[in-house]
This record gives sequence, structure tokens and C-alpha cells, in this order.
Amino acid sequence: MPITYDMPLYRPPSEGANLIIQATIGCSFDRCTFCSMYKSKTYRARPLDAVFADIDHARRVWPEAQRVFLADGDALVLPTDDLSRILDRLAAAFPALERVSVYGTPLALNAKSIDELTRLRQQGLTLVYLGVESGSAAVLKRIRKGATPNTMVRALDAARAAGLDVSATVILGLGGRDLWQDHIDATADLVNTSPPTYLSTLQLRLEDEVENDFMARFARAGTPFRWQDDAGIIAEQERLLAHLDPPAPVIFRSNHASNCLPLAGTLPDDRDYLLALITAARLGAPLLRPEALRGL
Ligand code: SF4
Repeated sequence: MPITYDMPLYRPPSEGANLIIQATIGCSFDRCTFCSMYKSKTYRARPLDAVFADIDHARRVWPEAQRVFLADGDALVLPTDDLSRILDRLAAAFPALERVSVYGTPLALNAKSIDELTRLRQQGLTLVYLGVESGSAAVLKRIRKGATPNTMVRALDAARAAGLDVSATVILGLGGRDLWQDHIDATADLVNTSPPTYLSTLQLRLEDEVENDFMARFARAGTPFRWQDDAGIIAEQERLLAHLDPPAPVIFRSNHASNCLPLAGTLPDDRDYLLALITAARLGAPLLRPEALRGL
């Protein structure tokens, strides 16, 4: 049977050319107030037989596949034994397999012991995409992330201890005009404390279906949300880069289509170069992505 995906199907931009196997449907957490990705789905783990059938079909049509992404929203939440069986099946199906990646929530990472994560790493899981969003306790609470800065650091530490690469995302504009400095400073502190392998920025956009809930939680906390404009977002990028000083190299990207100012480099080495680009953009260099080309 050909693979039939349960739509919508989301994957990180860097997985666009890779094989996608749906191990779960939806997001087991599904409470972050800014996120509308899986609102149309009820979370469930797919039966292992169905996952194996997809792998077997993919092996027949794409035996040379080298990279696999396990969807949907946080397939890392699956029991370790189930993930282990999926990884074994992938290794057997694709002799050239180099990378298996997955979205993971901080809750899912912290629910597994380092021994379990190490076992998954040894069986071929290489990369976890982690939505950090912010290092600010105030912002994490307002967006109902289900994590604090401490539990986020614990999740990053555990992944690194297990030998897993982590691709972390933070969302520019997430604190609005009133919390932006705390949002950025605390995010830089978090990255400096426990650096991921990759750090990407997104720029906040809200779908209509989640905007009211998002706004309501900021208002209830006494800081009604006010959107950042491009100048505010660039100020956030500048402050973040100025404060980032990770103890190990971090590959930094602001090139997701949601960002108004695309940037790419390795920190801390490229920090001055990236800050110079920001200064040039502020002085009028044509570096900003046109509004019509921005999106999620
Ligand atoms: S954990 Fe990720 S996929 Fe799930 S609701 Fe939050 S942002 Fe969305």
C-alpha cells in the first residue's frame, strides 16, 4: 500500500527533501497558545504495524533514502520501546540511513532517562527539533509552553548528554513590545547555559483561530500584548546576537520564511559579522525580506 499521510503534514524546512514517516498523529501536548498546527487533529500514536507498513513501502520505492523525519508534532513522546522498534525497522530498511530526526517537546525529552535517550541515539536517532520559543519564565507561562527555563535547560542537557543533536527554535516578537527585553536576555542566557547544536529564529505570526487565546493570556497576566514591528524585531535580533556567547559553537539561522531579516552564521565566531548586517539593514541596505514573501 502506498503511504497515505494524515494531513496537514508539517516538517521542519530542512526536512523538505527527506522521507517522512508518520509515527504519531497530531501533538500530544497541543496547548501552546501561539500554535495552530495540529488543532484539526486528535493526538494518537499510530499502530506500529501501520508505521512498519509505511516503512516497508518506502523501502520499495526509495531504498537509498538517507534521512528520515518522524512526524507528527512530538513523536519523541512515544514509549521508548516503540521508538526503538521503529528505529530498528528503519535501519534494516535503509542501508544508507544517516539521520533520523523527530520533533520533541521539553516534556517528552524530560520524561525519558538519559539511558533511554542514549539507547535511541545508538539505534539511529540523531536529531531532535525542540521548540524553546523563549528563555523567559514570564513568556513561557503566557504562551502555556508547559516548560520553565529550568526544565528547558534540563531537556537540552539530557539530549546533549545522550549524544543527540538539538535544533532549537526561538520566536522573535513573542514577548511583544512590553516583554521583549526579558524575552531576549533570558533566551540568550538559556542558550549560553545549555547550547543546542543549531539555533533558529522564527518570527511570531498567529493564525486567526488561536489569536484570541494568545492575547487573553497576556491580558490576564497584566501585560496586554502589543505586536513588534520590523524595527522591534531587528532590535531583538541585535540584542540576542550581542548577548549570545555559547561555550560551544552554535549554528545560527534566521532564514526561515517568517523572518523579516534573514541571517546565517556560526556563533560566537560570526557574531560581529551578523551584527554588522543588522546595522546595515537599519541604515537602509536592502536586506529585509519583502512582506509578501514572509510566511510560516
Ligand atoms: S508542543 Fe509544538 S506542536 Fe505541540 S502545541 Fe506546542 S508548538 Fe505546537
